[in-house]
Amino acid sequence: MTGMAVMALGLLVLTSASVARSTAMEQLGQVLRSNLAEVDLVEGAFQAGENFHYYQNGVYTLIYNKDQALLAGQLPVGFTAAEPFENGVTRVVDCGGSDYIVLDLWFAKGWTDGLWVRGLMEAPQADQTLRSTLTLAAVILPCFILVSGLGGFWIAKRAFRPLERITATAQAITQGADLAARLEPPRGRNEFTRLTAAFNQMFERLERAFESEKQFTADASHELRTPVSIIKGACEYARSFEETPEERAETLEMIYRQSLRMSDLITQLLSITRLDQGTEGAALEELDLSALVRQVAGDYPPDRLSLELEEGIAVQGSAPLLTRLVQNLVDNGFKYGKEGGHVWVETRRTAEETTLSVRDDGIGIPADQQDKIWQRFYQVDPSRSGDRGAGLGLSMVYKIAQAHGGHMTVESVPGLGSRFTLHLPQ
Ligand code: ADP
Repeated sequence: MTGMAVMALGLLVLTSASVARSTAMEQLGQVLRSNLAEVDLVEGAFQAGENFHYYQNGVYTLIYNKDQALLAGQLPVGFTAAEPFENGVTRVVDCGGSDYIVLDLWFAKGWTDGLWVRGLMEAPQADQTLRSTLTLAAVILPCFILVSGLGGFWIAKRAFRPLERITATAQAITQGADLAARLEPPRGRNEFTRLTAAFNQMFERLERAFESEKQFTADASHELRTPVSIIKGACEYARSFEETPEERAETLEMIYRQSLRMSDLITQLLSITRLDQGTEGAALEELDLSALVRQVAGDYPPDRLSLELEEGIAVQGSAPLLTRLVQNLVDNGFKYGKEGGHVWVETRRTAEETTLSVRDDGIGIPADQQDKIWQRFYQVDPSRSGDRGAGLGLSMVYKIAQAHGGHMTVESVPGLGSRFTLHLPQ
């Protein structure tokens, strides 16, 4: 700002000197021409009219005869030059100490006679203009810089206040590890509003990632404890006691079953964690739901699984996730079914939604437990779930439905069977 002010000042100084000089020249011309109108030569003698002025507005007017001898008027004291006459040319003449602007006009009388009318004016001094401009600038410039500096500081401070708040909150979140805290959006709609929204989104994602990681760690350490201690106990027993080959085979089988259980558990937990973090649900594409069901059904005995599919149901979805959803529901249908029971999978499309139902004729779920089965690790009767169940299957189904913008419902009558339905809005 100071630089720009100095530049503007320099430009002003440069132009003001030449402007002052050209204004003076114009003034000289005006005065001299009005005097010329008052000049006359009567029988060889110079005569001045009423409005003739020898000195007016800094302009000296002098009258010379045709032989260039001074007839009337007085030369300014500083004008010492013997300047030759030149009709109608305004020029600057250097007279040692100061410059003079000179203009001569020829007043013709008859063919041969006439008068020279000469105008003289002291040229405005360039450094004088400069000095007065600089004096003015020396007073105005510091005031201007001070005012604009303080104003700029105030405006910048006001403008950046939201940024300070954002920084303070971000620091508080980092130091206090309170990921649930959010930034308060500033008033109005500007860059800070968008910045705040972006930060809040980031915190939300961080919180979700952090929470699901915490949950994963807690779940894994809790759920893996049982199979690990079973394996550990079996190994210690096998090392301390002589085992018959049959006993050894049984121990190995138990260790194998427990390790399968652990591996299933880890896979399921990782999938749920990814779904929680929103990384697995991202890739939605158009797919044929009935074709997907038909493909999954190929892995089950056809005499126990019936399909009632409407053809050509296109949905926006993730094939691996929807495959897992159907598998989990069909597996449960068999797991909690009667001896030799049956499972039906049905797809249907209405104006509002697309549905996928998995129905069985199994043991059913008591009404008071029907809203709890979606929770992780919830099992109605753990002894029924067997070794491989951990109460995670339906929780995953629920999250997959959510990742597709849909939801799950269950209808069940104990002793008669259950129907699990995925609802996807159109
Ligand atoms: P898991 O099967 O591993 O125990 P899930 O999350 O799949 O875990 O199911 C949770 C609980 O819901 C099961 O323990 C079971 O009691 C009940 N359940 C799930 N599906 C059915 C079904 N088709 N019929 C009866 N009960 C079911």
